[in-house]
Amino acid sequence: MSNMLELIEEIWPLRRDIVSEDFDRALYRLAEEFYNLPGGSAGHRMAIHTYPTGEPCWTWQIPEKWTCQEAYLETLEGRRLIDTTDHPLHVVSYSLPFEGVVTRQQLLDHLHVHPRLPEAVPFVFKYYERDWGLCASQELRNSLADEAYRVVIRTTFEPGTLKVGEIVVPGECQETFVLVAHLCHPGMVNDDLTGVVVGLDVVRHLLAAPTPYYTYRLLILPETIGSVAYLSHNEDLIPHMVGGLFLEMLGNDSPHALQGSYQPHSQIDRCLVSALRSLDPQGYSAPYRTVINNDERQFNAPGVRVPMLSLSRVEPAGSPTRPYREYHSNLDTPAIVTQERLEASRQVVLGLIEAWEHNQYVINQFKGEIFCSGYGIWIDYRTNPEGHRRLFEIMERCDGEHTVAGIAAELDIPFQAVWEVVDLLQSKDLVVLSRTSQSTSPRLNRIS
Ligand SMILES: [Zn+2]
Repeated sequence: MSNMLELIEEIWPLRRDIVSEDFDRALYRLAEEFYNLPGGSAGHRMAIHTYPTGEPCWTWQIPEKWTCQEAYLETLEGRRLIDTTDHPLHVVSYSLPFEGVVTRQQLLDHLHVHPRLPEAVPFVFKYYERDWGLCASQELRNSLADEAYRVVIRTTFEPGTLKVGEIVVPGECQETFVLVAHLCHPGMVNDDLTGVVVGLDVVRHLLAAPTPYYTYRLLILPETIGSVAYLSHNEDLIPHMVGGLFLEMLGNDSPHALQGSYQPHSQIDRCLVSALRSLDPQGYSAPYRTVINNDERQFNAPGVRVPMLSLSRVEPAGSPTRPYREYHSNLDTPAIVTQERLEASRQVVLGLIEAWEHNQYVINQFKGEIFCSGYGIWIDYRTNPEGHRRLFEIMERCDGEHTVAGIAAELDIPFQAVWEVVDLLQSKDLVVLSRTSQSTSPRLNRIS
């Protein structure tokens, strides 16, 4: 089995456009990682779902398979200026074919550059609004002084199949937590391969651990259309999806950013947001659509409404290079990611999942305030005033109507801090945990 960085080094140069041979090659290579998993069975293998070109998916349609045989720009004397053999980003993804001599101005109208980095080749895609196009650095663009140039873009559009990889970790119940990562960024690493390899490693760990309560489902797909294809063909699964997490940009040197779902008060939002605080003290949370937009939009959307958060390493709001300097360019290479950071991100995801597994309603088996010293759980307010206050604030909310995450959110403290107290109370038989709320307050028949 390869480690995360080894997998990245093997796969990243592939031209993984949304429906393409290299996308399939990358997905099948990732699937191989699960063939011989120790302790794994056939059921743990990656299923590959296929959706043919033209297939309707709600308001969308599966696009054609796109292949770029070659694309280059040269002077009329035949001097090659840019060439996709140097980097796949030199051609617009889903560019129309084009061959001919163009004026300098015609070329400039079709030559895309990076908005910020003069030395970088940008990632430009025109999946639906079709045109021909090449991409180059601003530096190269500035050097173009000839009257005319020769453009060669040999691309083909043909029927194919969009593919979605899926690995299921069966839990005790059918209710499912969905992990999603996209694989469709040609020749780039942090966006999007890092999310894919972290997702795979998380699943590897879950498969090796005791059976979880929830079922976990990892989907590896082309961005947007892959999620729409999967969801529209698996509508029966949607009511069982209790929440999810989209993963990408997990190898660069920024703190973890957890973007909330469209339903910020959902159990999953309160749980993951409060749990991140212990898992990455430098990390931060931010509302839906304020960090980075990806496949979580399809899950959060009308008619689906699965609360899906996203985890990435993104520079704080206001940074001029947000989300990160090399974003959507040929500078997004293995050089900007480390195995250590990928492992740290995997631990954060596993920690979020652990919290989610623990998140239940806390049902008090006591009435009134607990006689703490009698149970040996009293915290001396003289030596630990904060701990003393917290203990009482947490116990006060153990009433069968609050979950662990609900208490953490209400008190604005980490999930793990609440869990520690709840776990202690559980060990003293003072509380039990339940997946459903069970209010222990007497019915009121007085004015309150
Ligand atoms: Zn992207």
